[in-house]
This record gives sequence, structure tokens and C-alpha cells, in this order.
Amino acid sequence: MDFQMAFCVDSTEAEGPGHRFALWTQGCTLACPGCCNPEMWSEKGGNSQSIPELIQRIQRAQAAAKAGETLEGVSFLGGEPFEQDEALALIAKQVKDLGMTVMVYSGFSLDEIKARDSQLLPFVDLLVAGRYVKELRTTKRRWIGSENQVLHCLTSAYDPNDPRFSEPNHAEILLNSKGDLTVVGFPFDKVMQAFPKKVKKDEL
Ligand code: SF4
Repeated sequence: MDFQMAFCVDSTEAEGPGHRFALWTQGCTLACPGCCNPEMWSEKGGNSQSIPELIQRIQRAQAAAKAGETLEGVSFLGGEPFEQDEALALIAKQVKDLGMTVMVYSGFSLDEIKARDSQLLPFVDLLVAGRYVKELRTTKRRWIGSENQVLHCLTSAYDPNDPRFSEPNHAEILLNSKGDLTVVGFPFDKVMQAFPKKVKKDEL
């Protein structure tokens, strides 16, 4: 099975606890005003990604991690991961089999996800849930974009009192061997101004 992916990075510390492989799904129907990733709304954008090839890339990233930078998990962002529920459940199951945790950033609330009868949800350890509301924007709560959003610890893998959950947000600028620059992490205004996105009209 393939799924629609915007992009992924092999390791970041800015998208959840520890070092994590992070992937951004393509496609979101929720259309929150002020969303920092509107280029990921259209289901026609991004690339069709084979799940076996993605799992191989995750395994390579896991094996290549330097001492002290072991991959703790995989984060799904977007786009809306739960709108590609079946494919993401298949990925999440294999991530768990590799001994890593699964974190998901979703615009749906936990109740909405449960009502969708999600196949992905049972594999999720950590969930950031709720629409982004620009009037409630915050930079103070880790991994949270607006005050209405909720961080759920859904399994025993994480403790709500984990001190990492109260560290400051940060952004990362990643440069690969081809010279491609990728900015991940919290969308601070100064970061967005310094690295403006090139969004085509047909991506909105
Ligand atoms: S759910 Fe997330 S990706 Fe979708 S519009 Fe809202 S903030 Fe953007």
C-alpha cells in the first residue's frame, strides 16, 4: 500500500521527545485558518510513498543513529495523519515492532478520532489533538500550537510529568549532503519570516 507523503526527516529533536524520525503526510480537509502548512492541504500534493520503502528508510535511520542519538520514535505530522488512517496504522505497527514509540500531531480531538474508528489510534503513544486556533496561539507549551490543543499520553510509554514535556519549543535547520535545507520544529514567527515557504496557488 502507498500513501501520500509531503516529506520526511531521518532524525530531529524538535518534533517530540528524544530523537525521532518525522514524516509529514499530505492532505488535510480541516483547513484551520493560520495553519503553518497550507501547502500540505491538497491530497494531490506531495508524493506517493511506498510503505515498505519508508520502513526500510526508518530502519536505516535507526541503524545509522550515532551513540547518544538513538531514535526513540517516529512522529506523524501533516497534513492530517488520521485522514490516511489505514496506511498510517500499517506504518505505526511496524514502528512499534522496531521498538520505537509513535507520536501523532492531529487536528482532530481524541473524541473525534475515536468516533472515526481509527485503526491508527491503538498504536499511538503520544497524541497532540485539536484544531489550530490562531487566536489561541501559544509558543510556551511544548509541541502545542494553540491553547485549546491537548497532549494525551495514551500508553505507559510516556509520563505526563516527563521533564522533557516542559522544556522550551525549538526549531531546527537541517542541511543534507546535497545542500537541501529543511526547517522543522516549532513555527516561530521569526523562523517563518526567515525561511518563507514557496506555496503555489494550486496547493491551496
Ligand atoms: S489540522 Fe493541522 S495541517 Fe490541517 S489545517 Fe489544521 S493546523 Fe493545518
